[in-house]
Amino acid sequence: MSNGHTSLPLYSPVLIVGAGPTGLSLAVELARRNIECLLIDRRPEPLPFDRATVIHSRSLEIFESMGVIDVFLEQGHLMRGFNIFAYGQIVAQTDFNGLECRHPYDLNLSENETEEILTERLVALGGAVARGWELSSLEQSESHVTAQLRSTNGTEQTVTADWLVGTDGIHSRVRESCGIDVDGHRYLRRWGVIDGHLKDWQHAPDRAAIQIEAPALNPIPLPRGRWRIYFRADDEMDNEVLLEQINAGLEILSPGSRLHEPDEPMLYHTYRQLSAHYQSGRVLLAGDAAHACSPIEGHGMNMGIHDSFNLGWKLALVIQGTADAKLLESYEQERRPAAAAVGASGDIAEELRSIPNDPASVERVKRALCVMLTTSRGQLQAAQAESELEFHYRDSPLVSGYHVAGDEARQHWFGPLPGDCTPDAGPLLKSGSAEAVQLSQLICNEGHNLLWMATDQTEVPDFENFHHILQACGEFWIISTAPPPEFLPESSLQECWLHDVEGKVHARFGVIDASLFLIRPDGHIAFRSEPPELARVASYFENLFN
Ligand SMILES: Cc1cc2nc3c(=O)[nH]c(=O)nc-3n(C[C@H](O)[C@H](O)[C@H](O)COP(=O)(O)OP(=O)(O)OC[C@H]3O[C@@H](n4cnc5c(N)ncnc54)[C@H](O)[C@@H]3O)c2cc1C
Repeated sequence: MSNGHTSLPLYSPVLIVGAGPTGLSLAVELARRNIECLLIDRRPEPLPFDRATVIHSRSLEIFESMGVIDVFLEQGHLMRGFNIFAYGQIVAQTDFNGLECRHPYDLNLSENETEEILTERLVALGGAVARGWELSSLEQSESHVTAQLRSTNGTEQTVTADWLVGTDGIHSRVRESCGIDVDGHRYLRRWGVIDGHLKDWQHAPDRAAIQIEAPALNPIPLPRGRWRIYFRADDEMDNEVLLEQINAGLEILSPGSRLHEPDEPMLYHTYRQLSAHYQSGRVLLAGDAAHACSPIEGHGMNMGIHDSFNLGWKLALVIQGTADAKLLESYEQERRPAAAAVGASGDIAEELRSIPNDPASVERVKRALCVMLTTSRGQLQAAQAESELEFHYRDSPLVSGYHVAGDEARQHWFGPLPGDCTPDAGPLLKSGSAEAVQLSQLICNEGHNLLWMATDQTEVPDFENFHHILQACGEFWIISTAPPPEFLPESSLQECWLHDVEGKVHARFGVIDASLFLIRPDGHIAFRSEPPELARVASYFENLFN
């Protein structure tokens, strides 16, 4: 980490403005691919207090790829679901155990600790955060961006970059400098956050509580036995009155329970916002700079991390000269609809949490939640929405599929479609090894992964065409329901043969006949082909790179 007293390089391929979770994730994604970038933040020190707490299943998969999952699991607190209360009674529940993924839970950790872990990862990869440097203005031409920076001690510096990414939060100066419109509104009531110990809490320590009626509290478990209470805040509220109100709410949720050793409460104005565009020439936006949503569903930070995971590999390919800059257009096409959906869902949740404080209204919300969450289907839908695993890019120009029987046959595919997140499954046995692995462990590398799904020992790819595709693709795996044959034409085939011993990978991917799946570096399915045709993969890469 460096600060404003140190001078900065005059040029960097990428300048990232803002070292919150979004900017740090993008810097890590670029560093993993050996792309140099300059990451600046106007604050001399990171913010010591919290905003985001909840990290969803999809983000945990992303952290697996970034190489930080073990640290997150060690430091965070696993949360298995929610209990929803009305007048002290549990009226509905959500459970994440039914999620078919590698991490079927939320992980709770303060945003400042998330930033710390990402910063450490960046440093381990050879990067740094230049703190105490603020972007004051920017100009761009067809070939580069020129940014005027000012340090905390008043030093001015000009930095030229090929690309600039604004991850500078909700009041983004980068967005404003590019004249990108933003649409949205501020929520009428503020949200407050207070941390402390909950004495005599009678409910499970791995479930959050949501209280429907006023004072509408959300106690969420944190690491080290602490809890974070989210509450609705009035503009003028004395801390003592506030604590009394919180303790009164806790008494209803769990008689005898009180908040001990509380930190200072923090109050926040919150917004729903969506930028008209995520890109203007050589400038891109990500995270809160591009979109914001109610904190009530805990998606804002997660969405920013997903933006960076989508943008990182594309920007790297463009900077390396492997792909044309047109590739970056897909970033907005894929990520903006996801942000719009989350924003709309946050509005509905805000409305449900802003009901008048009378029994009839509480009863109505209770009925609505029971309707949504009584069936196992409703339960699963709620858990899937929470996990963010459902976001897909099926409408993206960057994904496609082929079925020898024509387009109609693709409508009947089982399993994930082009654009979907790759499901995890296993066990898979590597040839010559007795140790089983999960698919997700094999494909969390920096490049594309080609999965050749065979149903017997004879369905092996034609090696004449194989090597140049392998070069573009990164990793190549033959996943077969059969063990490798004694004799294979190439030893490299032996190394990439994975025996789907229980057939679970084939089942999860909906493979009935031999097929091929090309997985993007961000874990989404780029291309699916039945039968597997390498020539089509070659055409896919040609389109991607030109
Ligand atoms: C009460 C509350 C609870 C929340 N809970 C959750 C949750 O549980 N889960 C979740 O996913 N989200 C949650 N969120 C949302 C989450 O906090 C944000 O979405 C997240 O912080 C956005 O990260 P970011 O990196 O995009 O932006 P920020 O975290 O805002 O980071 C922007 C950075 O840019 C820097 N910066 C700004 N301007 C400049 C400039 N001109 N030059 C240089 N640097 C600059 C800032 O100093 C800052 O470090 C919550 C929000 C609130 C308010």
